[in-house]
Amino acid sequence: MKNCKKIAFVTGGSRGIGKAIVDKLGSDGFIVGFNYVNSEEKAKDFVNELKLKNIDAFCIKFDVGNYEETKNAISKIQSEIGDIDVLVNNAGITKDKLFIRMKEKDFSDVIDVNLKGVFNCTKQVANKMMKKKNGRIINISSISGLIGNIGQVNYSASKAGIIGLTRTLAAELGGYGITVNAIAPGFIKTDMTDTLSESIKEKIINSIPLKSIGYPEDIANFVSFLSSDLGRYITGQVISIDGGLSAI
Ligand code: NAP
Repeated sequence: MKNCKKIAFVTGGSRGIGKAIVDKLGSDGFIVGFNYVNSEEKAKDFVNELKLKNIDAFCIKFDVGNYEETKNAISKIQSEIGDIDVLVNNAGITKDKLFIRMKEKDFSDVIDVNLKGVFNCTKQVANKMMKKKNGRIINISSISGLIGNIGQVNYSASKAGIIGLTRTLAAELGGYGITVNAIAPGFIKTDMTDTLSESIKEKIINSIPLKSIGYPEDIANFVSFLSSDLGRYITGQVISIDGGLSAI
């Protein structure tokens, strides 16, 4: 079936920030799709939950770090559902270690998913968006890509890479009516941050000007804004959503 409704696709929508983005864009009226690599049951339950709310939703399993898998999956979506109007590159992993202990694989795995994954997915949608002269690409970077973070040489490099990619792509695609922006979340409550010890969490929260952790919805609300007509004149930007953490 081909659709006349706009389609938003979110990578890594089975949990955390991606899940909140899928939920919000679905409520905004998009047909929403997302992928996952491991959480099959969670992903399918989430699609059913969305359908109960009368949201058109679908999910598909593929690894964003794998170019061929990504190409085949997105091409299947394009032929069975339609062209993607809004792409949110959200999927990400951490493999934290001090540089001195970091193995080459810890570095390349994180770069492959977090940075190359953005290239892989964007590559499959950019042509179609250019032909339509319309599209929104929103990349989830991180405060770690802006100011660095001990133990995250791999992750910080991947997230800083996303910022360079975003700015350059915005310049290349602007003439085709496509906006490309990055969001740099601070400390957001998800599985990714739940693994930190209570004492580290408390220390981080104390250092945040707003003295509170952020929630996935804080990110989702801004993705919704950028995806709507209200965001039409914003491109090439990196927007921090971090309770002021990067401002001090
Ligand atoms: P999360 O709770 O760990 O969820 C990660 C999501 O990405 C899951 O849906 C996971 O799928 C998916 N994913 C992981 N590897 C993938 C791959 N190779 N291919 C496809 N999907 C994959 O993470 P989160 O905290 O929501 O983070 C979402 C994004 O925000 C990430 O890019 C992260 O770096 C960024 N961010 C997070 C924070 C924070 O404080 N949480 C701060 C700054 C930036 P499965 O469920 O199948 O594993």
